[in-house]
Amino acid sequence: PFDVLVVGGGPAGASAAIYAARKGIRTGIVAERFGGQVNDTIGIENFISVKYTEGPQLVASIEEQVKEYGIDVMKLQRAKRLEKKDLIEVELENGAVLKSKTVILSTGARWRNMGVPGEAEFKNKGVAYCPHCDGPLFIGKDVAVVGGGNSGIEAAIDLAGIVRHVTVLEFAPELKADAVLQDRLHSLPNVTVLKNVQTKEVTGTDKVNGISYEERDTGVTKHIELQGVFVQIGLVPNTDWLGDMVERTRIGEIVVNSHGATSLPGVFAAGDCTNSPYKQIIISMGSGATAALGAFDYLIRN
Ligand code: FAD
Repeated sequence: PFDVLVVGGGPAGASAAIYAARKGIRTGIVAERFGGQVNDTIGIENFISVKYTEGPQLVASIEEQVKEYGIDVMKLQRAKRLEKKDLIEVELENGAVLKSKTVILSTGARWRNMGVPGEAEFKNKGVAYCPHCDGPLFIGKDVAVVGGGNSGIEAAIDLAGIVRHVTVLEFAPELKADAVLQDRLHSLPNVTVLKNVQTKEVTGTDKVNGISYEERDTGVTKHIELQGVFVQIGLVPNTDWLGDMVERTRIGEIVVNSHGATSLPGVFAAGDCTNSPYKQIIISMGSGATAALGAFDYLIRN
């Protein structure tokens, strides 16, 4: 059996595995897609100590470092069930069952998509999901933020400081964000809020040139010219396969304590699949390190 089995090979899982392996204990990683969301990122400018890098390049250097430690990396494998017997068992979709004394869950998350024409086509060509990451690409331009919850309104406030104009599109008749965020938003001169509207299409040629939406009360479709669309309708953690084995929040995020421990003894979690409030590469790596040290602590006490 493994001492530490990491499920998920994004920045959180890779960091957890390196920290675990450096303790000289038997460590494995199962990952459907090694590198996780980082594979889908073009420019990364907020990974401290590296001024600029690109997703595939960062994934390659993470993988090189993982290889240094003799970690058992099982790629293209998806976990489908976790159970605790004497050891913790993780069953893969191919039927194999892996056994480990501790498990670190780091299966990440995915942005919820709008599912309208143009969204997939213009991803990274004007359609963006992360204001902290991609906001600076739109300095002086006009953008839309789709979604009027806390993350949408925070994104709009953040973007309003760097872009020329922000249009917020909310499906419901009212914004759902906290009042303090709404007050802040309404104090900004370069923001327009459209409520009760349904986004219909992201338009463009080689990159985004606008967004079409329908006014839900009149049924009239309108089009705004702009260069960027930030989709902020939620993150979906990849945790459904865990069922009730570990405590999860209403939106499916794994609840962890300050040591990265979940509700199930011996099972730890890190990164975007947890209830950590901010989802970033550097944060995932930090929480991966925490979970590995938490797991090591658990191993020496049990
Ligand atoms: P992920 O990266 O999501 O990795 C999850 C891993 O788990 C993957 O290996 C996946 O294949 C695997 N997995 C999932 N389910 C299973 C399963 N059942 N069995 C086995 N394996 C499974 N952050 C920044 O800091 N800076 C940026 O510039 C930046 N830009 C971004 C741009 C885009 C387009 C996106 C989508 C995100 C961006 N982020 C950025 C956010 C950052 O990528 C994430 O916060 C980070 O990747 C989270 O790491 P993670 O390891 O928790 O999860």
